[in-house]
Amino acid sequence: MVRRMVSPQNSPAWGSLRSVLNATLFVCAALAAVAPRHSFALPQRRVIPGQEIVVSFKPPAFGQVVRSTRVVGNVQLPSGLRMKRVHGIGSIGVVSSDSAAFAANADPVPVDDAEIAHRCDEILKKNQGLPIVCEANTLFDAVATTPNDPYYSTLYGLAKIQAPAAWDISTGSSGVMVAVIDTGVQYTHPDLSANIAVNTGETPNNGVDDDRNGYVDDYYGYDFINYDGNPMDDHYHGTHCAGTIGAKGDNSVGVVGVSWRASILPVKVLSASGSGSLASVAAGINYAVARGAKILSMSLGGSSSSATLDNAISAARTSGVLIVAAAGNSGQNTDYYPSYPASSPSDNVLAIAATDSSDTPASWSNYGPLSVDVAAPGVSIYSTLLGSGYDYLSGTSMATPHVAGMAAVLKAINPGLSYLEIKTIIMQTVDPIAALNGKIVSGGRVNLYKAALAARDGSSTPTPAPTATPTPIQTATPTPSTPTPTPTPEPTEPPADSPYREMSISLERMKRMVYIFGEVRDENEGLVVGIKVNLRCRSRLVTSRTTDEEGYYEVPMRRPNQKITCYVEDEDGNRSRRLRFR
Ligand code: CA
Repeated sequence: MVRRMVSPQNSPAWGSLRSVLNATLFVCAALAAVAPRHSFALPQRRVIPGQEIVVSFKPPAFGQVVRSTRVVGNVQLPSGLRMKRVHGIGSIGVVSSDSAAFAANADPVPVDDAEIAHRCDEILKKNQGLPIVCEANTLFDAVATTPNDPYYSTLYGLAKIQAPAAWDISTGSSGVMVAVIDTGVQYTHPDLSANIAVNTGETPNNGVDDDRNGYVDDYYGYDFINYDGNPMDDHYHGTHCAGTIGAKGDNSVGVVGVSWRASILPVKVLSASGSGSLASVAAGINYAVARGAKILSMSLGGSSSSATLDNAISAARTSGVLIVAAAGNSGQNTDYYPSYPASSPSDNVLAIAATDSSDTPASWSNYGPLSVDVAAPGVSIYSTLLGSGYDYLSGTSMATPHVAGMAAVLKAINPGLSYLEIKTIIMQTVDPIAALNGKIVSGGRVNLYKAALAARDGSSTPTPAPTATPTPIQTATPTPSTPTPTPTPEPTEPPADSPYREMSISLERMKRMVYIFGEVRDENEGLVVGIKVNLRCRSRLVTSRTTDEEGYYEVPMRRPNQKITCYVEDEDGNRSRRLRFR
């Protein structure tokens, strides 16, 4: 949802409110059966007329630089269709039956799934043997919202995450590149210009791809809406996010980012109205990875899962890139109503919810005990804005760059950290928040100081971040191997003097979900209230719960696609029986 902030400084001229989530369109019956307490509407999937279809290559060709030929441009198209746009390096193309010129900002329309399935069928038939994906070129949206209370102390978010204490360890490094995949960035902003990752191999505005990376004049970054090397923000959202990540510190100007120094790479994939297509988003990810960004900040979301996006995320993972993504602002449980890329199960995606200055989860913040990882300050965040200004915005969009900035500082402290180590440190060092217990995977709000200590001391091998299901990878060929998380060691038998407890575990299967539940009793069979229960599956810690007033715990999980074994244990080493299921 994209709504313009209302602020004391400037309000009415800032244009239209756009409702991205339309009123109730349809509610999936299967989902409604799993979640009877809710009656959410799924957001409408939309495309821009004239660019309805995306055709892309599967890995390993996906995202590879192809200099001499426009590879996707060579795909055979049935009569009536034409290739409207091939993205810079050639593995993503936009196809339409519309003969009109390619217009970036036409009003979106609902996806005609039948028509797109028919057209894709024709395209795939004409190109048998070519490893291509064809699907709807659906829209993604920036996810900022209006602050309803703009009176928080300026930059409270930095205090909340204990950034000042962490800055004694590191204020970041210009050697860490963070891509802002958004509406662009005002790279001339006095608080940002010194921290922009300019491409020194490129001479700006000479019309030549000097460094031969497939993009002409990409000195400051790239614009996948207007297809040029000028990723200037024409909205406001990306500039705001960039400031939270890395507005220059200690320069006597304006605000300071979580990381005082960073190399911010502006990648424009959303238009002046805050929306952009799948093709632009996926191409933006590819570009950022190719430029060397190790952290991608993605304050955007779309409701459609997509093979093209999965392939982009997977290629980023292969390059060791962490994607920090906004969970979305619909107030929904993304375990049931996903928002991509945040809801991707790939382990290089960190999904972010929003809290306020009192650590209260924002009412509009999405959540998900399986699909949202951590929370960060996202209500009334003060940061850089177009026109070299500053203002407040709210959203999981604003929480996300706090975490992306954190990841940049952690990488500066310990450049050897992998994407999975950074993700794990961020998740394991949260400050627990009662209202988030059971609502998001980590149950807490991020803390940069604690994370920085962990990154500096590298005390132990981090346990792998919990993932609900293996990463689905849409590919015709095996993907390159990726680091396998080290399983945490099985707990040892409880010492003789620790209290005995009976841990029960049961399972209820739903169509897409399973519920694991049980109760904890003491040696006199009395119910144990308020004790921490750790759920382990395949020996890995999946999540923790605290027993309620009836000694009961419950964990909803996505149904695994293969048999797994799970059990629960308490902190004293008492364990349940092993439950094997799929
Ligand atoms: Ca270039």
